[in-house]
Amino acid sequence: MVNLRPSRRAMMRAFAVIVGAAAVVVPATAALAAPTFKVPFPCGQVWSGQTRSDHSPANAIDFNRANDDGDPVVASASGTVDRVTDLGNTSYGKYVRIDHGGGYTTYYAHLSRFNVSVGQTVRYGQVIGYVGTTGGSTGPHLHYEQRSGGTAVKVKFNGTQALYWGTKNYTSDNGCPSGSANGTVNTSGTPLTVRSGPGTNYAPVDTVADGAAVTIACQTTGTTVDGTYGTSNIWDRIGSGRFIADAYVLTGYDGFIPGVPRC
Ligand SMILES: [Zn+2]
Repeated sequence: MVNLRPSRRAMMRAFAVIVGAAAVVVPATAALAAPTFKVPFPCGQVWSGQTRSDHSPANAIDFNRANDDGDPVVASASGTVDRVTDLGNTSYGKYVRIDHGGGYTTYYAHLSRFNVSVGQTVRYGQVIGYVGTTGGSTGPHLHYEQRSGGTAVKVKFNGTQALYWGTKNYTSDNGCPSGSANGTVNTSGTPLTVRSGPGTNYAPVDTVADGAAVTIACQTTGTTVDGTYGTSNIWDRIGSGRFIADAYVLTGYDGFIPGVPRC
């Protein structure tokens, strides 16, 4: 019998030859790529971030904005919370650490209070705690670190290194609505009316068949509709000037779909 599938070893050998020909140096054990970290505040917020060489650790950033005491702090990437610790009046005070895998962790310190517990998985934009001035802090701010293998590294947001050294404004795109979603129309038979706007008072412009797949570009509220999936005032925009009642659409979510923008 002839095995036409090349062995993994053979493929690796071929890869090494190609790489060698291109004179590219590949580390023996490639480090896992860093997660795409985002600014640790909600979508759209602007925060002043300061780095300074006498900071401990030097690569940390201190974040401030006006009246920031108690403002929400969010996970800068998805991961698992592995520390929710109160050091009292020293050091970080109340801090959270998130393990992002691959040896990468992030630290959020001087919090006034926590919004997560150890072992909890978090996603981009999820509130983990609130800005405060606990520990060795002289005023409300967020002390933030990115670590690799336990060592604080220069912070990057969306792959771009923060300003070292100095103070700069950072605008968060963390947890911003990012895209469309898929849905399936379910009317138990009859076609669903497509309307020019988000409500039964808008003109019918078309129909979609029962069972049709739709792409939801954004969602908004309109007239309340009793449908296959209960009562809802959410309307889904499935094209320019084309809206359908979400009560007839299977989206996997009871209310608004996470990540889908409001119209
Ligand atoms: Zn600090």
